Amino acid sequence: MPLLEVKELNKSYNSEIQVLKNIEFSVGAGEFISIIGPSGAGKSTLLRCINRMVEIETGCVFFDGKDVGAQNKKDLRRLRTNIGMIFQHYNLVPRLTVIENVLHGRFGYKSTIGGVLGLFTEEEKQRAFDLLEKLGIAEQAYKRCDQLSGGQQQRVGICRALIQEPKLILCDEPIASLDPNSSKIIMDHLKQISTELGITCIVNLHQVEVAKDYAHRISGLKQGEVVFDGASPLLSQDK
Ligand code: ADP
Ligand code: ADP
Repeated sequence: MPLLEVKELNKSYNSEIQVLKNIEFSVGAGEFISIIGPSGAGKSTLLRCINRMVEIETGCVFFDGKDVGAQNKKDLRRLRTNIGMIFQHYNLVPRLTVIENVLHGRFGYKSTIGGVLGLFTEEEKQRAFDLLEKLGIAEQAYKRCDQLSGGQQQRVGICRALIQEPKLILCDEPIASLDPNSSKIIMDHLKQISTELGITCIVNLHQVEVAKDYAHRISGLKQGEVVFDGASPLLSQDK
């Protein structure tokens, strides 16, 4: 059984444009797949349907054997702990420190009480610190996120996703705001996470070259439709 199965998925935000058209898409555990396509193709919407950040219109998304669209609020929250999300603009809380942002990924409810760091146990803090070390930013742990470079902030975003120990990570244009050097660092980390931890990664990219370098499978989206899907070397024959 695939980890993720999207069946006949349709989505529009308003009745005017159909953003996703009858998407059929399935991803096995451990895959590193890139979704490519021009801006407005629906890549971001597809990822948001998978964890139901936006409501599915018609069709189904099955994750880990569960029908995402059919989950009640509580079950959806539990299901989402298995799906990490990484964003183009990092989506960190700027006034919080790096380590607080990471802890927020797993123990968010504690951070809403105020006082923040004191509320976490030493074990929880150690786990966050270990992840920061793995991503090479442990030295920044007690800095506010808004003092970090874009590449460093994205590494915090990755730690925040990893602290939940997800089965799947959805990355929505993770390098679109970064310079080539930082982009390489981020893509290398994502690849490493996938290989070492066996976490399935779906990475939205608009740079075909990067997708070819990192993904073993590339799926192309154009105007809401999957226009190709295959092993990434196949793509180079078309170009
Ligand atoms: P991509 O990630 O490939 O750039 P998106 O999924 O962001 O594509 O957008 C696909 C289409 O859906 C675009 O036409 C965009 O304007 C539209 N869209 C995205 N989000 C919304 C929204 N919240 N409300 C209305 N339209 C949206
Ligand atoms: P990104 O590609 O990084 O998601 P966008 O500029 O496409 O950034 O979208 C930024 C935000 O605006 C998203 O929350 C998206 O859902 C929303 N959005 C995009 N297009 C539209 C639209 N046509 N109408 C309303 N909201 C939109």
